[in-house]
Amino acid sequence: MSRPIQAIINLAALRHNYQLIRKHLTDHGSHAKIWAVIKANAYGHGLERTARALSQMADGFALLEIDAAISLREAGYQHPILLMEGVFDSADLDLCVQYRLTPVIHCMEQLALFKKTNTQLSAYIKLNTGMNRLGFNLNKIKILKQQLDVFSHLKIIGMMTHFADADATRGIDWQLETLDKFKQELGEPFSHELCTANSAAILRYPQAAFDSVRPGIALYGSSPFADTPASHFGLKPVMTLKSELIAIQSLTVGDRVGYGGLFTAEAPLRVGIIACGYADGYLRNAPNGTPILVCGKLAKLIGRVSMDMIACDLSSVPDAVVGSDVILWGEGLPVEEVAQASGSISYELLAALTKRVPILEVDHGQA
Ligand SMILES: *Cc1c(COP(=O)(O)O)cnc(C)c1O
Repeated sequence: MSRPIQAIINLAALRHNYQLIRKHLTDHGSHAKIWAVIKANAYGHGLERTARALSQMADGFALLEIDAAISLREAGYQHPILLMEGVFDSADLDLCVQYRLTPVIHCMEQLALFKKTNTQLSAYIKLNTGMNRLGFNLNKIKILKQQLDVFSHLKIIGMMTHFADADATRGIDWQLETLDKFKQELGEPFSHELCTANSAAILRYPQAAFDSVRPGIALYGSSPFADTPASHFGLKPVMTLKSELIAIQSLTVGDRVGYGGLFTAEAPLRVGIIACGYADGYLRNAPNGTPILVCGKLAKLIGRVSMDMIACDLSSVPDAVVGSDVILWGEGLPVEEVAQASGSISYELLAALTKRVPILEVDHGQA
């Protein structure tokens, strides 16, 4: 028997979340196209698996790894595929043509690469409305327009921007104001598809969905908000990271647990040892008290996370034995809660799942 850790991926939950996003948009009068964001191995859920589960409903797939995009084409997916960081060299451009990938163009240096091809290619222009990572600034738009006129083989089908604070207090209005200025500056003949919202913006500002949206984390059933749980929106966790207790220790007062003895027993204590560590993707800096479900009951992590094991306080689970079920996150324990306890966000935990964790695909629950 192999080590008991396993990540269960529920495809029905994935479809449910997609439909929920669709319904949320429709309910707010939006008919925006939905690009399912499947970057970073679909946030740790498996690229091909996620594409397969969503293939009947997704309007397109968005990611930034060109090899992953090519693998989707080679697996037969015909959907539009958006490369959200565009191309990194001119060889990538040839691949875009060959595999019908739609790159974003976010800076002049990237645009210059397009001089090297005469092949017809569709692309999106990335506008910097305040995130200040990628995208053209307002004062570059005139030059950009001149350049684009020269590249007649380049068909600009959309304008894309990204919200920096949709999940927090500043919101999106300040970026929408800048976006309006871009629209004025672009004028005719720029009447392009506007591609804007991430999960937080879709859920909180569906009126700003425009023509197409790019949900990631919500598809995977996790909330982008620190103050609102996923269940509030009806999102269901897609990944459940499960394991088992592989040993139980009985500590007496003063005994310590794990490397560095970060936890010391103040009273006699049963401690469960779980087959899960940082080499599986569990965050090493998860502190004492990080929630873990043992036999469906809430228990607390104690001591330092090691490569292959973590320890938990079993005082709330007196009936736990070697072999008892453990849930690190997922069904019954939202990944956001584990992330928050560890000073991180669900994105990092999901994407950090490592290759050594076996995946079990399931398809249950109504969706
Ligand atoms: C990752 C990403 C998204 C998805 O964001 P979520 O918060 O996961 O919904 C959307 N747009 C861009 C440009 C991204 O990089």
